[in-house]
Amino acid sequence: MKSEATLQTRRLNIEEWMREVIKEDEIDRYLEKGQDFINDERIEELLNANRNPEPTKVREILAKSLSLERLEPEETATLLNVEDEELWEEIFSTAALVKKKVYGDRIVTFAPLYCSNYCVNNCLYCGFRKDNDRQKRRRLTIEEVRKEAEVLVSLGHKRLIMVYGEHPLSDIDYIKSTIEAVYETRVGNGEIRRVNVNAAPMDISRLKVLKEVGIGTFQVFQETYHHETYRKVHPQGIKANYRWRLYALHRAQEAGIDDVAIGALFGLYDWKFEVMGLLYHTIDLEKHFDGVGPHTISFPRLEPAVNTPFIQETRYKVNDRDFKRLVAVLRLSVPYTGLIITAREPAHIRREVLQVGCTQTDASTKIGIGAYSDRYQEQELERQQFMIGDPRSLDEVIREFAELGYLTSFCTAGYRCGRTGRYFMDIAKKGKVHLFCMPNAILTFKEYLMDYASPETRKVGEELISKKLPEIEPQTRAIVEEYLQRIEKGERDLRI
Ligand code: SF4
Repeated sequence: MKSEATLQTRRLNIEEWMREVIKEDEIDRYLEKGQDFINDERIEELLNANRNPEPTKVREILAKSLSLERLEPEETATLLNVEDEELWEEIFSTAALVKKKVYGDRIVTFAPLYCSNYCVNNCLYCGFRKDNDRQKRRRLTIEEVRKEAEVLVSLGHKRLIMVYGEHPLSDIDYIKSTIEAVYETRVGNGEIRRVNVNAAPMDISRLKVLKEVGIGTFQVFQETYHHETYRKVHPQGIKANYRWRLYALHRAQEAGIDDVAIGALFGLYDWKFEVMGLLYHTIDLEKHFDGVGPHTISFPRLEPAVNTPFIQETRYKVNDRDFKRLVAVLRLSVPYTGLIITAREPAHIRREVLQVGCTQTDASTKIGIGAYSDRYQEQELERQQFMIGDPRSLDEVIREFAELGYLTSFCTAGYRCGRTGRYFMDIAKKGKVHLFCMPNAILTFKEYLMDYASPETRKVGEELISKKLPEIEPQTRAIVEEYLQRIEKGERDLRI
């Protein structure tokens, strides 16, 4: 750990630090004729040219998605332009089918762990922005990170996403130490088996450190793909550089991190444009990295944050109807990529979009710095980046999912057995993820029911396991049944 005196000195050197972060040559090698892969005019053209599509054309596109092929931009633009309500119902039901085909009735669960809210940037929509003097700033010590991890392990979590602002106080040394502290944490039978990271874009040498420390997915959201809007909402700081962020995950892939996650913050610009941006991002990653696109896509909507009037003023807020539509179109456009719906959204919206394609969600979420182990219970805007919409406990969320027929998975086997990147994409594109994932979901779900669930959740959960077991092919089912018995007797972390 650095001493506080060192940290003070570094604080004075923020400007110098910022100048060192961006490596232009790590951007330039991906440009084509000096251009990045987001062509704003082309996206607008596609959206305009495919208005009011013929139902036959829409149904052909739906059939393509059902064969688990990734859509082309023109096809996605066509779906985005559907007006007819009945056709939208067909889109929703096809999206649900695609999800079932690739992922089965399974939902992966994780928790976010916010480590620091210091930031050098001034994003207009964010409560953590540098000039927001109503934000209480804090960076967790390593000991505090351990305490947060202990609480999360005690709730039953196996997978975290650790979140850091962009600041020298959250440099790569700090990030590495915090991840190591989490991996070392043990409480009873529990441990965190996969740490994903949401942090500022880094250069390749720093990303290699993340690879070595054993992260799962590296996540960077572009926020908005629209160049002009990006400039307006990121007036200062490192984040003002659109392309440094746009190619953050290309660099991660170069550094050997082959599970990368993209996202857009919906509400900054036209939602249809942002969906197209996410698709072009996917296509460019596939082009450069042997067909390996993003492991997950996120689509958070703007939520209120303290002293952040931009959020009330934006004219691009996405209503619930369009939100469901954008999730379904993403599901159909990139059938083999995980879709994340977070606790930003209220419970009823999460339920709704779960059905049309989401595969991962967080639960028991607290996003204040140190909020899991602190005494305060209520959300406090002064400590948070935004307000969350679904503060329910992990147990409550799992019970609800089980009642809906969804099995909560705590599985982290893919990452630990090398089923990432190219390997994962291959099995996902062939619709074979569920062959490994459903058995492992059942095994990790059983662990949760044994170690952490309330009696009501255990009852609903055990019933669901009995229903799902016959869906597994006989040879694997026999192994799963044997493992379930061994879990009952106290063994843990058994996987296919
Ligand atoms: S969005 Fe991220 S980079 Fe921007 S101010 Fe907030 S924490 Fe900083």
